[in-house]
Amino acid sequence: MRTKLAAGNWKMNGSRAALTELDALAEPAKGPCEVLICPPATLISEAAGRVEGVAVGGQDCHSEASGAHTGDVAAAMLADAGASYVILGHSERRADHDEHDEDVRTKTLAAWDAGLKAIVCVGETLDEREANNTLDIIGGQLAGSIPDGATGHSLVVAYEPVWAIGTGKVPTTDQIGEVHDFIRARLERRFGEGVGRSVRILYGGSVKAKNAAEIFAVSNVDGALVGGASLKAEDFGPIIEALN
Ligand code: PGA
Repeated sequence: MRTKLAAGNWKMNGSRAALTELDALAEPAKGPCEVLICPPATLISEAAGRVEGVAVGGQDCHSEASGAHTGDVAAAMLADAGASYVILGHSERRADHDEHDEDVRTKTLAAWDAGLKAIVCVGETLDEREANNTLDIIGGQLAGSIPDGATGHSLVVAYEPVWAIGTGKVPTTDQIGEVHDFIRARLERRFGEGVGRSVRILYGGSVKAKNAAEIFAVSNVDGALVGGASLKAEDFGPIIEALN
């Protein structure tokens, strides 16, 4: 059985004062599903260990362990600050920072070297979906972004259709199921059935309290990567409860 994961991505939002939102997750975080918040890097050390049952992660890391890379953060620094996960290859990183699959792959290796679990994001644009290329795009991103040697412990995959992020548009449950089943099959083919079945696959893109239960009922959906609705405990708490 895969442990469900409710992961919040605060993106470039939040402040030290906003960490009280984590305190308000203490109750839902007592349930069986794993709860993770990925705040901006500046907040990781203060967020880590603050609330029992709320793990903390980064939103990106550099592919190298240290060196002359002004403004970047190494995976080991995230771990040192108390992070246990890092989101890699988010579509906003791919778009804003011209990150490609190969960058995501080397960052994932760096994350593993530092003992972090990697949440590798994949997802098609609206043009790619309308051209019926969704599965080809996802297949290519999986092959290029995930290094050899993945395990159910070290890897989480997040399927986030670019057109669903921050837009309020959500794919149908059939569309989500098709992509999640495809990702599961690709993971099993590449890493073997045991590993392939143990990797968690999250859905991300406009997950809210009101649509969470329906999305979580789809096969091979092991949780969610939540942006906007993770900023406030009153929104994220019910999403966690829907997984518990
Ligand atoms: P959203 O973002 O929940 O605000 O759509 C999801 C994400 O980008 O991870």
